[in-house]
Amino acid sequence: MARYTGPVCRLCRREAVKLHLKGERCFGPKCPVDKGAGPPGMRAGKGPMRRSKPTEYALQLREKQKARRIYGVMERQFRRYYQRAARAKGVTGSLLLQLLERRLDNVVYRLGLATSRREARQLVRHGHFLVNEVNVNIPSYLVREGDAIAIRPKSRESRRIKELLEGAANRGTVPPWLEWDAPQGRGRVLRSPEREDIVVPVEERMVVEKYSR
Ligand code: SF4
Repeated sequence: MARYTGPVCRLCRREAVKLHLKGERCFGPKCPVDKGAGPPGMRAGKGPMRRSKPTEYALQLREKQKARRIYGVMERQFRRYYQRAARAKGVTGSLLLQLLERRLDNVVYRLGLATSRREARQLVRHGHFLVNEVNVNIPSYLVREGDAIAIRPKSRESRRIKELLEGAANRGTVPPWLEWDAPQGRGRVLRSPEREDIVVPVEERMVVEKYSR
């Protein structure tokens, strides 16, 4: 599956918000958003370009792009998530975020086992995780209630995995829909994430409006 491989800070600058795409470095002094950098393409040294008031469509587009970039999903796959959410019973926007949140790479990130979703994606790709005792190397794999997630025993020998496990406690608390037993290196999906469990700076209503035009 294709993915964006360009400079990630550019994406944050475009959305004018910290998307935390670089892991721990996002908290360092070099974050361009913290330093007040404007959108890419702004004329250097000539101040901000004159921008007209954004249209409703432009605002909806930005919300959609923001959601897509946070979870590292390409347009076609994102649209498929939307279509799946729209077919299901319930509030489409919340269902869309739920689907994104249930991706295995996001779960690894939420468990604090990676410093960014990008890194989590790479760890999953390299086969470091088991879901229900089966090796799963598909970052978009959607976890379900009751799934058991564990670090592959052989991977626990890896220096990088050891470092990540040591730092896991400093990466915030595990959300209430997940459980993680650090000494055992295994956890469980307790339930589907609710909207209030999903902390992302996205107005999903506008994403839905964008696709329902
Ligand atoms: Fe770059 Fe991270 Fe700052 Fe985004 S939040 S601009 S990825 S350093």
